[in-house]
Amino acid sequence: MSQGRIFSGIQPTGSIHLGNYIGAIKNWVQLTKTYDCIYCIVDYHAITIDYDVDRFRDSILDAARTLISCGLAPDKCCLFVQSAVVAHTELAWILNCITPLGDLERMTQFKDKSKQHRENINVGLLDYPVLQAADILLYKATDVPVGEDQIQHIEFTRRIARRFNANFGETFPEPKWLLSATPKILGLDGRSKMSKSMNNDIGILESPDVIWEKLRTSVTDENRKRLKDPGNPDICNLYTMHTSFSPGDVVRDVADQCRAASRGCVDCKKILYENLMKEIEPIRRKSRELEKRPDDIRDILNAGAGKCRDMATAVMDEVRAKMKLGV
Ligand code: SF4
Repeated sequence: MSQGRIFSGIQPTGSIHLGNYIGAIKNWVQLTKTYDCIYCIVDYHAITIDYDVDRFRDSILDAARTLISCGLAPDKCCLFVQSAVVAHTELAWILNCITPLGDLERMTQFKDKSKQHRENINVGLLDYPVLQAADILLYKATDVPVGEDQIQHIEFTRRIARRFNANFGETFPEPKWLLSATPKILGLDGRSKMSKSMNNDIGILESPDVIWEKLRTSVTDENRKRLKDPGNPDICNLYTMHTSFSPGDVVRDVADQCRAASRGCVDCKKILYENLMKEIEPIRRKSRELEKRPDDIRDILNAGAGKCRDMATAVMDEVRAKMKLGV
């Protein structure tokens, strides 16, 4: 029996990298075993910053192909593209009307993105959390898998749900955040979050040569300048990757050898590379197969959108009736 309904989304920007895979997608696949899961490629969110219009649809298809290849098959979850269900923006408008401007201006993500995109601080960037709240509430989701940086957004969504229920009658459950237990994979610089835009990522569909070259040159424990310097795996991003891809006995061995300075970083990275490729090779194979059948991907997305549209229509009918909209 389902423990509740999950909603989560991913932007179709750039290729899906190891940080996305470990931090979100692997967990999404696990959650399909115990929850009724709705996963969305959030193209409306992606247009809040400048984007490559000519490549956008290819990016959406690429994201869908990778997600399906990772295990988000249509018999396990609902996978669709946000703009295919117009009720997302309709509910966002309604929620805008009960959201104080000050709440949006205080959001950390808005402050950060305004600094990053000074030349394009648009209303959508400010309103992003309301659309995100609409995404979740439209399906009456009970749980939302997030990283720590997204907790503020779920608290915001809970406040909106409470305000709507208080003003118009009990309608939306207050969604809970589900913190992912997976470790946070940093970028290849070992400092910032892994991100395509910061050019510090490893895409899971990149060629094996490129993946190895990126791993080989990535930053480890910077105090370990020579082979004989003992290292500290707890501050090494490569060790964190080992905990995600290598078997338990190998992880323990890696930590011991690092502390004892009895294995060099390049050898340690070779072991990681082998275990990493073992896990992602089936995904890469599936992705290559699907690449030849883009219409199959479109069919999966359209079927997912059809199911979501039915759910959204029922919720929007309820919302309009409670608010006495229309006649
Ligand atoms: Fe990191 Fe491995 Fe080098 Fe230790 S030996 S610093 S865990 S790469």
